[in-house]
Amino acid sequence: MESCPFCAIVQKRLPAETVYEDENALAFRDIRPQAPVHVLIVPKEHVGSADDVQDPTLWSRLMPAVKATAAKLGVSGGYRLVVNCGESAGQTVPHLHIHLLAGRGLQWPPG
Ligand code: 5GP
Ligand code: ZN
Repeated sequence: MESCPFCAIVQKRLPAETVYEDENALAFRDIRPQAPVHVLIVPKEHVGSADDVQDPTLWSRLMPAVKATAAKLGVSGGYRLVVNCGESAGQTVPHLHIHLLAGRGLQWPPG
C-alpha cells in the first residue's frame, strides 16, 4: 500500500534497521524503543491489523521470524510479544506488526 510506512520499509523505500528477513516477514528495530530490544515483525504483504487477517496461516508464517530475531539478537531470559489491534488498544501504524520486547524487566499486567 503506497501510503503505509511499513509497506515502505518492506519495499526499502523507507530506511529501517533490519534484523531479519525471510520470504514472509521483515523484522526491524522500532524507531522509539521501549526496551533495550524492541523489534517489529511485520508481514511483507499489507494487512491492516490482527482483525484484518483473512488467512490464519499468516500467523504461523510470521513466527519463524520471531524466533530467528530473538536468537539473532542473543535474547536470553525471555521476551514479550505484543500486538496492538485498533486505536483504543494503542495501534498507531495500520500495518499488522508484532512487537518483540526484551532486555529489561517487563511488568504484568501492562498499563
Ligand atoms: P503500535 O503503536 O501501532 O502498536 O506500534 C507502532 C510502532 O511503530 C511504534 O512503537 C513506533 O515507534 C514504531 N514506528 C512508527 N513509525 C516507524 C518508522 O517509520 N520506523 C520504525 N522503525 N518504527 C516506526
Ligand atoms: Zn502496509
